[in-house]
Amino acid sequence: MKTEILIATRSFGSASPKPFDVLTEAGFHYTPADMSQEMTEGRLIELLEGISGAIVGVVPMTAHVLENAPGLRVVSMHGIGVDHIDLNAAERLGVVVANCPGTNDQAVADLTIGLMIAVARNLPRVDAAVRRGDWRRFEGGELWRKTLGLIGLGRIGQAVAKRAIGFEMRVLVYDPYIRINQHQQFNRLEFLGFNEVIARADFLSLHAPLTAETRHMISETQLQAMKPSAYLINTARGDLVDEQALYHALCGKQIAGAAIDVFVEEPPTGSPLLNLENVVLTPHTGAHTKEAIERMGIMAAQNVVRTLQGGQPLNRVV
Ligand code: NAD
Repeated sequence: MKTEILIATRSFGSASPKPFDVLTEAGFHYTPADMSQEMTEGRLIELLEGISGAIVGVVPMTAHVLENAPGLRVVSMHGIGVDHIDLNAAERLGVVVANCPGTNDQAVADLTIGLMIAVARNLPRVDAAVRRGDWRRFEGGELWRKTLGLIGLGRIGQAVAKRAIGFEMRVLVYDPYIRINQHQQFNRLEFLGFNEVIARADFLSLHAPLTAETRHMISETQLQAMKPSAYLINTARGDLVDEQALYHALCGKQIAGAAIDVFVEEPPTGSPLLNLENVVLTPHTGAHTKEAIERMGIMAAQNVVRTLQGGQPLNRVV
């Protein structure tokens, strides 16, 4: 009997058929969910009926959903962040959770640098101006020899740091869990306390996972401590930032601008950030390059296949 796999992510296999080949060559059947409809807990429970493995994007894999999916043996995140999956419930129920570290760090790092340039040079505004025949110039700022503050120096943070060194940026890092002596290749980085990085950065870029500790780590106090000329870049998770506090900081010109790829609510319908000019907004698109989508898809498929065949996924979270 063939095992059913649910695919509950828009981009799985969109860049190449290879991820689907991994499933079919192993003899598994898969069912792509209609992702144009909202993925509520109730809908997810219905879709998971008779399913052994789920390849998911950011969908609500809550305790309620996991408890009501009795046949489910593995949840394979098509990406890195697993904050939307109730890991305690998965562990309690014996459901393996896997993800795909190392598959999209270069893509997210590229976007991070792109967002830094976009917000510092007002690219969305100048693009819109040229299209309507307005040839005015906006004065922007440079990355060259500016100070970059990195919160989190994992795979993505490191990839951003390497690029920033190419811009001759001074790179300050806060990451309480990194073993600094393991990172001799980063001898041009300065490891400092959280408050110091925030206060000294011209660009403050977030690359930590969403955890109880990191939720709202950038709030009113931190925004007030930033330089008025500084930009906040968030390509990690929306909840790292108190969005209301960010909105007020941007309105009050407490900071110069922000570039945001990830939101508390996605899409951020009705968010006041949509009305501000000093922000650049992208639709959680950090990992969306052809190359990264193919790598994530292959690894997410392999994680499901290996687990359902009785082995271990390539990267097990719980
Ligand atoms: P990673 O696990 O390699 O690195 C995370 C780093 O954050 C680690 O070095 C860890 O020590 C550090 N960290 C943990 N808690 C911290 C804290 N309180 N303060 C500072 N640093 C802390 O993960 P990664 O691949 O670099 O990805 C980072 C995050 O980026 C993911 O968790 C995910 O939420 C997000 N992400 C977003 C996109 C996107 O499309 N925008 C794509 C991939 C990943």
